[in-house]
Amino acid sequence: MEKPKLIINGKRLDGRDFEELRPIKIQVDVLKRADGSCYLEMGKNKIIAAVYGPREVHPRHLQDPSKAVIRYRYNMAPFSVEERKKPGPDRRSIEISKVSREALEPVIMKELFPRSGIDVFVEVLQADAGTRTACLNAASVALIDAGVMMKGIITSVAVAKVDGHIVLDPMKEEDFYGEADLPVAFLIRNDKIESIALLQMDGKMSVDEVKEGIKLAKKGAMQIYKLQREAIMKKYMEDEEKEEV
Ligand code: UDP
Repeated sequence: MEKPKLIINGKRLDGRDFEELRPIKIQVDVLKRADGSCYLEMGKNKIIAAVYGPREVHPRHLQDPSKAVIRYRYNMAPFSVEERKKPGPDRRSIEISKVSREALEPVIMKELFPRSGIDVFVEVLQADAGTRTACLNAASVALIDAGVMMKGIITSVAVAKVDGHIVLDPMKEEDFYGEADLPVAFLIRNDKIESIALLQMDGKMSVDEVKEGIKLAKKGAMQIYKLQREAIMKKYMEDEEKEEV
C-alpha cells in the first residue's frame, strides 16, 4: 500500500498537534484477585496490568536468597489487532517482556523481599501502537497499588519521526508509515526525571532529532506521570473514605 500523508495542514491524522498525547485514562484496583491492578487507555490502546506478590516463587529453584525475582509477561490478546494475532508468546512479546522487566527492576526495592517473587502481567486488549509504553505505565501503577516498595515510578511514551516532523505518542498509522519510532521509559523520582530506563528505536533519525525526540518524550512523560499519580491518589482517597464510614 502507498504511504498516506500523515501530516495535513500542520495537524496529524487524528487532529493532534505534534506535541500532543492521545487521551489517557487510568483506573486503579480493577481486579479484586490481584494484589495490585490497573486499567489504562492511551488513545485506542487498552491495557490491563495485574501484579501478584511479593509471594513465594515457583519453581523454587528460581528463588534468590538475597532479593525478589521480578517476572514480567507482556501479552497481546488475539482480538487486540486487526489481523488476528496467533495466541501465545512470540519473539516480539518475549523481547518486550524482557526489556520492560529490565526497565522496572531498578525501581523495585527487591532487597526487601528475599526469596520472593513479584509477577507482573500485562494484557493488551486493544492495540494501536505504543503498547509497550502503555503497558509499562499501567504496570508501574499496578505495582504501587500492590504496595510494592519502589524507589520511584516508571513512566513511558514513544516519539516518532513522521513526514519529517518529531511527534509525541505515535498512533498505528504513524508507527507504520513514519520514518522512525522511539519508545522511551523514564525513572521519575521526587517529581523529577532521574534517568532513562528504556530506549529503543527503529527507523532512521539524525542525532539531533533523537535529542529533540527525547526532550519531547520527557515533556510527555511528565504529563503521564501526573495522571498516574492522580489515579493512585484517587484510589487511596476512596479507601480512606470507606474506612471512615
Ligand atoms: N501490531 C499488530 N500485530 C502484531 C504486532 C503489532 O497489528 O502482531 C500492531 C499493534 O497495533 C502495535 C503496533 O503494531 O501496537 C506497533 O507494534 P510495535 O511492535 O512497534 O510495538 P508497540 O508500538 O505496540 O510497543
